[in-house]
Amino acid sequence: MGDSWQAVLALQCDCGCFEILGASNDPEHEIWEFTKGDVVGCEIHSFYEDESGLVAVKRCNCRDATCEGG
Ligand SMILES: [Zn+2]
Repeated sequence: MGDSWQAVLALQCDCGCFEILGASNDPEHEIWEFTKGDVVGCEIHSFYEDESGLVAVKRCNCRDATCEGG
């Protein structure tokens, strides 16, 4: 999964996971492996000194079962 990071619109759930509301509109960097509506465990990652974003580290099923990603 290593390089599959992307800045996305996401809503943080109570458990700490994020529901993806929309992916980047930059097709040249469309390497985001998750799709709108997925719930993923994310971490904030600094890419550059003054730039950071979400990195999805795993898909979570917390809408269906217990949370694994929080
Ligand atoms: Zn979760």
